[in-house]
Amino acid sequence: ANRMAERSVVVIKYLMAQGQMATINDVVDADTAELIAIELGHTVKRVSDADVEEGLFDLPADDKAEDLTDRAPVVTIMGHVDHGKTSLLDAIREANVVSGEAGGITQHIGAYQVEKNGAKITFLDTPGHEAFTAMRARGAQATDIAILVVAADDGVMPQTIESIKHAKAAEVPIIVAINKMDKPGADPQRVRTELLQHEVFVESMGGDVLDVEVSAINKTGLDKLLETILLQAEVLELKVARDGRAEGLVVEAKLDRGRGAVATVLVQRGTLAIGDILVAGIEFARVRALINDKGEQVKEAGPSTPVEVLGFTGVPSAGDRFSVVETEARAREVTEYRQRAIREKTAGGGATSLEQMMNQLKDSGIAKFPLIIKGDVQGSVEAITASLNKLSTEEVSAQILMSGVGGITESDVTLATASNAIIIGFNVRANKQATDLATRDGIEIRYYNIIYDLVDDVKAAMSGLLKPER
Ligand code: GDP
Repeated sequence: ANRMAERSVVVIKYLMAQGQMATINDVVDADTAELIAIELGHTVKRVSDADVEEGLFDLPADDKAEDLTDRAPVVTIMGHVDHGKTSLLDAIREANVVSGEAGGITQHIGAYQVEKNGAKITFLDTPGHEAFTAMRARGAQATDIAILVVAADDGVMPQTIESIKHAKAAEVPIIVAINKMDKPGADPQRVRTELLQHEVFVESMGGDVLDVEVSAINKTGLDKLLETILLQAEVLELKVARDGRAEGLVVEAKLDRGRGAVATVLVQRGTLAIGDILVAGIEFARVRALINDKGEQVKEAGPSTPVEVLGFTGVPSAGDRFSVVETEARAREVTEYRQRAIREKTAGGGATSLEQMMNQLKDSGIAKFPLIIKGDVQGSVEAITASLNKLSTEEVSAQILMSGVGGITESDVTLATASNAIIIGFNVRANKQATDLATRDGIEIRYYNIIYDLVDDVKAAMSGLLKPER
C-alpha cells in the first residue's frame, strides 16, 4: 500500500474480497502482492527474486527464526483527562534518568526508553487514545501494550471507556494503572469493579488483565508497573530481526530552526545507521545524525528504539512509515512517485460505504461488519446495539466497535478509518471537524431517527454479505 501510495484499507478490502481475512500486520506472498498491484492499476516489475525477497518494504515474516532477537515493548498511556497520564509518563522517565545517567538531561523527542532489570521499555510520549488511533488509521500499529490510567479517587470516566474500546479495537493488551493512590479518597477496589462493566477483568476479579496501584506524584508503584509491563511483554513474545535495513514509523516531525527538518522515528525492525537513506511518506533523508532521547548522538538505532533523525529534505508526517532504501536515486523515485500519486488522486478514492463494503466482502468467509454507533440517549443506543446483535448469523455478524451517547467526533472517524468501519448516528450529527475528516478519508456516516430504518438498512447490507446459497 505504501509503495503504491494507496490506503492500506484498500488493499485489505481487496484481500477480503478474495476471501483472505487480512489485517495490517499480515504478510502477503509475492504473487498476491503482484495481483493486487495490477488490480489497483500499477505496473509491476520483478527485478529478481532476491529483490522480491529483500524488497523495498519486506515484512517480518521473511525473517528466519534464528535471526530474531527480543525487542522492547512499545507502550502508550491512555485514560481520562486529568487522571495523570502526563504525570505518570514524566514520573517514569525522571525515576529512570536519576538512576541512569549522571547528567540527567532529557530531551522530549516524542518517545523515550527506560531500563528495568536489564530489559528496555519504550514509551510513546503523546498520551491518549486519539494519537494511538490516529497512527493506526494511517496504517501504523506502533503500540504493543496500552497502559490504562484510572484515577483511584475518580474511577471509570467517559474517556476511560473510550480508551478501552480503542485498545480493544486494535487488539492491544491493556494494563490498568490505578493512579493517585496517595489521595485520601482513593478506592482502587471501586475502579476494579467499575472496569468489569466494560469487560476489563483484572486478575483479582478472576480475569487476566494485570493491574498496578501507583501514585505519579509520590512515585510509588512505578517499579511494579515497569515489571508488569515486562511480564506482559514476555507473554507477547516480541521478536524481530535486528540486522538488515531499518523500517519503522515517524512518531513526531517538525521544522527546527537551525537543524532543519527533524523527525523522531521508532525503529520497528532492522538497524538504522548514520549514512542510511531513508524514505518516509513523501520525504526522504540521508541520515546525517541520530540523537537519542537523552540528547546524545548515536551511530545506530535498533528495534524499538526511538531516535531523532537529521537530514530530511522536508518534514514527514507523524504516522508515516519509513524504510531504508539502497540509493538516493531510489529514494527520489519512490517519493516522487508518491507525490505524483497524491496529486493525481482526486477526492473520494477508496471510500468506505455500505454498498461498497457489501460488495467487497461478499465472497469472503466469515464476515464481520464493523460499526460505530452514536446516539442521543443511552436507551436508544442500547436498543440499537441489541437489535443489531440479534441480526448476527454464523456467517456474518455486526461488530460494534464503539457505541456511545453524543455527537460524532473526529475520534470516532479516526477509529472508523483504522478499523474500516461505518459510522451510524441516531438523532445526533457529526461536528464540522468530524465531517471534514470523514469526507477526506472516505468514511461513510449514516444518519437515522427511526431505529427500524437503521436496523433494516444494516440487515440489507448484511444479507448482501451472506454467501449466495449454492
Ligand atoms: P492527564 O490529563 O491525564 O495527562 O493528567 P495530568 O498528568 O496532567 O494530571 C492531572 C492532575 O492530577 C495534575 O494536577 C497532577 O498533578 C495530578 N496528579 C497526577 N497524578 C497524581 C497522583 O498520583 N496523585 C495526586 N495526588 N495527584 C496526581
